[in-house]
Amino acid sequence: MIPLSVPNLNGKEAEYVEDCIRSGWVSTAGKYVSLFEDSFADFVKKKDAVSTVNGTSALHISLEMIGVGLNDLVLMPNITFVASANAISYTGAEPILIDIDRDTWQMDLKLLREFLSKECSRTKNNNLIHKKTKKRIAAIMIVHVQGGMVNMEEILKISLEYNLPLVEDAAEALGSKFDGKSAGSFGVFGCYSFNGNKIMTTGGGGMIVSNNEELLDKARHIVTTAKTDPLRYFHDEVGYNYRLVNVLAAIGLAQLEQLQDFINKKDMIASFYMKNLKNVGDITFQKYEDKVTPNHWLFTIKTSHMEDLLKFLNDKNIISRPFWMPMSELPMYSKCTYYNFDDICSDIHKDSLSIPCSTNISQEELEEVCCSIKDFFDNT
Ligand SMILES: *Cc1c(COP(=O)(O)O)cnc(C)c1O
Repeated sequence: MIPLSVPNLNGKEAEYVEDCIRSGWVSTAGKYVSLFEDSFADFVKKKDAVSTVNGTSALHISLEMIGVGLNDLVLMPNITFVASANAISYTGAEPILIDIDRDTWQMDLKLLREFLSKECSRTKNNNLIHKKTKKRIAAIMIVHVQGGMVNMEEILKISLEYNLPLVEDAAEALGSKFDGKSAGSFGVFGCYSFNGNKIMTTGGGGMIVSNNEELLDKARHIVTTAKTDPLRYFHDEVGYNYRLVNVLAAIGLAQLEQLQDFINKKDMIASFYMKNLKNVGDITFQKYEDKVTPNHWLFTIKTSHMEDLLKFLNDKNIISRPFWMPMSELPMYSKCTYYNFDDICSDIHKDSLSIPCSTNISQEELEEVCCSIKDFFDNT
């Protein structure tokens, strides 16, 4: 079997975990948590970082920290993994879904601008209100889908112009860059995931980064049950038990030491596929904005024969998966406002297929994937 994207645990993971177990420091206290957070903040060039149990909780807390709450609206792209929308729902807010760009598969910023100027208005106390629902627009959650990125200069401009705080869901984009700056380092908060299929993993885990140390301290406080006294059980607000444990942070530190190698390998895999699948059938690839260096986390091709190719490859034990289902097609988000011109999300979803791209994939396996895809098109 050739898996889609599996963990690569060939560094010091076992050594660091053994250290946790021998020392007894397996839970939320212990040196690996702060070591992991500090090196992570260094990697993306931010002041500080707070680790969490997963990427979803990182997003949830970030939204709460910028004041998103009951009856608010948050702008986000219609194609992403469901966690982005769920995090918004946890705060009591609701997503406003914006269609994507046909080439980059990222939120269409022209549509976003059009929505803001046509569908929203300012109240006297300077809140931005969605005219139809009378609800407040509280934030923009930009998602770097499949490691691509929007034009970050433009989204920052929109965020400033409309006074909407920007949260980045960089769960799929650790290592991607815009103009040399890391995905996740542009917004008030950047959020990452270390789920098993991501470019680096802790089994499960997440991270919030920011330059706003006051807000980040608040985030650290609220993810550790808002405890204020190290000795007595005094908590000053409703907190969450969202802190990453030392054992997992130990894995994270070992993974981070290999992250640049992982990024290089993903880049090599993407180059191989782009070279070898370029003129095969009607295959096309995700495109990138100028100034974007993607991390090529999950290599995804587009073809009108997606459903048949999916079945063909999986039957050969070459694991492939369709692209994320648009949020507007999920029952719990189908009633949300979906702002689009001609529903590009649905086309991209219908035609896109992710193919094997683990960092430990071999050259023979890469060749086998390409040969099988060529076979498929020779017989279609
Ligand atoms: C993986 C992912 C998340 C959620 O991360 P978890 O660690 O699984 O909670 C959020 N957003 C996007 C875009 C993702 O791909």
